[in-house]
Amino acid sequence: MDIKAAARERFDSARSRVLELSHRIHAHPEIGFEEVKAAAWLSELLSGAGFDVTRGLCDLPTAFSAKAGNGPLRVALCAEYDALPGIGHACGHNIISAAAAGAGIALSAVADSVGLTVYVIGTPGEERGNAGGKILLLERGAFDGIHAAMMVHPAPFDVLTPKIIAASMFEVRYTGKEAHASSFPEMGINAADALTVAQTAIGLLRQHILPTDRIHGIIVNGGEAANVIPAHTAARYIVRGETLADLETLRPRVYRCFEAGALATGSKMEIVGGDKAYAEMIHNPEIAALFKRNAEQLGRPFPDIGAAAHKSMASTDMGNVSHAIPSIHPMIGIDSMPAVNHQREFTARCATDSADRAVCDGALAMAWTAIDLAGEGPLRDRLLSTGSGVAVRT
Ligand SMILES: [Zn+2]
Ligand SMILES: [Zn+2]
Repeated sequence: MDIKAAARERFDSARSRVLELSHRIHAHPEIGFEEVKAAAWLSELLSGAGFDVTRGLCDLPTAFSAKAGNGPLRVALCAEYDALPGIGHACGHNIISAAAAGAGIALSAVADSVGLTVYVIGTPGEERGNAGGKILLLERGAFDGIHAAMMVHPAPFDVLTPKIIAASMFEVRYTGKEAHASSFPEMGINAADALTVAQTAIGLLRQHILPTDRIHGIIVNGGEAANVIPAHTAARYIVRGETLADLETLRPRVYRCFEAGALATGSKMEIVGGDKAYAEMIHNPEIAALFKRNAEQLGRPFPDIGAAAHKSMASTDMGNVSHAIPSIHPMIGIDSMPAVNHQREFTARCATDSADRAVCDGALAMAWTAIDLAGEGPLRDRLLSTGSGVAVRT
């Protein structure tokens, strides 16, 4: 039997379990680094399919690695499974993990015969925005020796090489001094005013930043009572730039806006996080071209959607993986419009027939792409010689 047909047959034999798992993870959303159930369920599915599974990886209890085959070319399928606070699987990471597991299972049937070792790597905490699971796993060696990495991410429509920019999340904390807001206001130091000054400064800064820069955040503590001058306030912000270099140009300018709030009010300021930024994605063009051909064979033609393909600018710690290992991160469409990622309406669309089709097509397109990579030729030779041991950049 043809190798790709054999992989498909293996996937078909596991299809109902893979889709059931996608729905189960969707129904039990867990936020970053707390994905205890999802990591356990994925590990059990892969273990049951004959994978050699390591649960808990590099001191990350909800990370895992599952290995099948012993071929020379080592391909990693990245599985994300964290949800968003309050709105569940509004980024469809249940689809990502099910597709990765499905691709792994499909490949396990043919890995040795085509010369592959396939790893499904469970990568927690993608939505964090700083020190995401893949960054910590990269730093701690979980990706050492991998020649190529891939994943698919749900979106309203298929996009082969989406624009993925650099990002950094941090928390700003101000400390002032409480006082009665009416009787003794002159005795207080208003930490909420510090945030107001900072937000005003950021608003003015927006005139002077690049169109590809992004600054957005929320106040996570704005004070306790209207009649108490707030002594403690905090906000979480994400700054983004087209590249890590752009991000590092923007970051100090944003930090100065927060310093302005401290200076104006006499509050003390502390910045926590922001130390392990998400890098922009470098899509490997040759692997992407193979994925495209395979996805097209499954009936996903990647229509030209013009500027919309690059208008959306998200960030992911898969960007950091792509700086170390030849990688792809195509978006797989779930026909969700007008619902878009990080909306409740999108959550609902991530457990539909269309979402299930994305799981199956994503799994098979990745599996067939890995089979193509393992085929003898210059691309495989290049991956074997350069994909492994490249210095990890975070
Ligand atoms: Zn996502
Ligand atoms: Zn997301």
